[in-house]
Amino acid sequence: MSNTDIELRRRHTASHIMTAGVKMIFPEIRLGVGPWTDTGFYQDFDFGDKAPDLSQGLKEIEKKMRWIVNKDFPIKQVIVSSLDDLPPEFTRGLREDPYKMELIEEILMRGEKLSFYLFGDVEKPFYIDLCAGPHLESTGQLGVFKLTKTAGAYWRGDSEKTMLTRIYGVAFATAEDLQAYETQLEESAKRDHRKLGAELDLFTFSEKVGPGLPLFTPKGAFIRHKIEETIMGIQSQYGYERVHIPHITKKDLYETSGHWQKFKDDLFHVRGKQDTEFVMKPMNCPHHTQIYASKMRSYRDLPIRYAETTTCYRDELPGELLGLSRVRSLTQDDGHSFCRIDQVKQESKNIVEVIRQFYTKLGMFHPGDFWVSLSVRDTKTPEKYLGDVKNWDIAEKFLEEIAQEENLNYKRVEGEAAFYGPKLDFQFKDAIGREWQLATVQIDFVQPERFGLEYTNEKGEKERPVMIHRAIAGSLERFMSVIIEHFAGAFPAWLSPIQAHILPVNTAHEDFAYELAKYLKKNGARLEIYDSSDSLGKRIRNCQKAKVPYAVILGDTEVGAYCNKPSQEIDFSKITISVRKYGEEKDEKMGVEEFLKELGR
Ligand SMILES: [Zn+2]
Ligand SMILES: [Zn+2]
Repeated sequence: MSNTDIELRRRHTASHIMTAGVKMIFPEIRLGVGPWTDTGFYQDFDFGDKAPDLSQGLKEIEKKMRWIVNKDFPIKQVIVSSLDDLPPEFTRGLREDPYKMELIEEILMRGEKLSFYLFGDVEKPFYIDLCAGPHLESTGQLGVFKLTKTAGAYWRGDSEKTMLTRIYGVAFATAEDLQAYETQLEESAKRDHRKLGAELDLFTFSEKVGPGLPLFTPKGAFIRHKIEETIMGIQSQYGYERVHIPHITKKDLYETSGHWQKFKDDLFHVRGKQDTEFVMKPMNCPHHTQIYASKMRSYRDLPIRYAETTTCYRDELPGELLGLSRVRSLTQDDGHSFCRIDQVKQESKNIVEVIRQFYTKLGMFHPGDFWVSLSVRDTKTPEKYLGDVKNWDIAEKFLEEIAQEENLNYKRVEGEAAFYGPKLDFQFKDAIGREWQLATVQIDFVQPERFGLEYTNEKGEKERPVMIHRAIAGSLERFMSVIIEHFAGAFPAWLSPIQAHILPVNTAHEDFAYELAKYLKKNGARLEIYDSSDSLGKRIRNCQKAKVPYAVILGDTEVGAYCNKPSQEIDFSKITISVRKYGEEKDEKMGVEEFLKELGR
């Protein structure tokens, strides 16, 4: 069994042990869902009108859980076609629980069997719950656990439905693992992008605009734009050209692409004057196929590459929205290459090169700080994948060759391919070790087929191109949440809206400070002058608090000689200044030209 597999079993089992513990204290309780999460687990409870004060109560539940763990109850699965197949005393509690019954009815409606887990003696179980598993073999294997918090959660995430109490917990193999997790948690709370976003004035939300619709301030918008511009700059070397599409479309587009089935419940609908029905786009790929399809294409035109940074809209439930990580308006740095199957390798390689350059600029492309999932078919279930098998074989081979030739730290993951093609997914580690899937290269055999895309080959015959989807940053909103937390708000100078504060030591240095700032700005620097109305110490501290990359200190030692000179007589490029880098204790002497170079890093 793999490590992740064991951890999933551990978390899932913990969720049931918690539920059993809660039931020992509140026998009348009704149960919502209780899945595992990235780090732990939760379970939703309906306490009825007797909702207890759980601020003290979590300790009590933990005590019951410990008792269950110490008993080392065996955990056994039983699969039945109907509740009646179980002894009535097993199912009495379930039959009285409207939430469980709703889930059970849905499973039966889908024609599936019911999977139950019995904790303890199979004849006379201590506890029984509906669950598909998998679980540990007995409660004694649980390890170390802790209940962390409670929150309100609507049944099925629907604000029209009952508000339940959600209890969260974590479970680990050892106490050291729990300790490491808690340290990371403290560190992530300090870096929380919602908190830093407000402190550094990067983005905001408005009640009047609505939840999940972030508004970017000038500083936040600067960073977004810089990311976009940087990616566009790199990929234009590889032949990507900017396109532009409207944000609404007739639903016909998604009926053809096949996305309608999948997305129709998550779309924002727009009604036109003549009762025409439009939707806000949840993705851009189908629109881009229509630009390709607007002309006859020859093999000589390929590859054709489109890129665009554009916002998509998805009607996420309010309960699922989270800062910039989960929003209703998400801006994708999107791009597509339409090419022949034999061009897939070079095209994909170019995209990997764009990813390399961009993440190197961010300082995130160190070996060991990222890995690549080479997501291929599960050969046991060929029916799950659409498109020509020969093309699949070629594309999977190309992607693996790229991963090897580019020295990517990659894992071949069978069964992770999309139904339309294999892909490379880049997983980056942030400063505190969390992994984020950001960049991706996806081969697609299905969209060109659905839209009937064509080109004419050397012999004058029609052929289908292959479509490659690629994202470098992914959604800019989510990407910003990741880098705000990765850098803890202290962005590299090239990405910072304000790169330096200029601090004249006293009024005598102020005129010169303005002249120097003028020179630096002319050379592309983004600066603010922080005049001497506050003490130098206080200004340096504020500069650090605002996480500005550099403070430039101008006093007599640095610039005294120039202070009384007319500015046209000063060669600013020759001046040496004192610079304090963010997070450092000491100043560094630096020539103005060198400083300008630093600001580009
Ligand atoms: Zn379970
Ligand atoms: Zn796409």
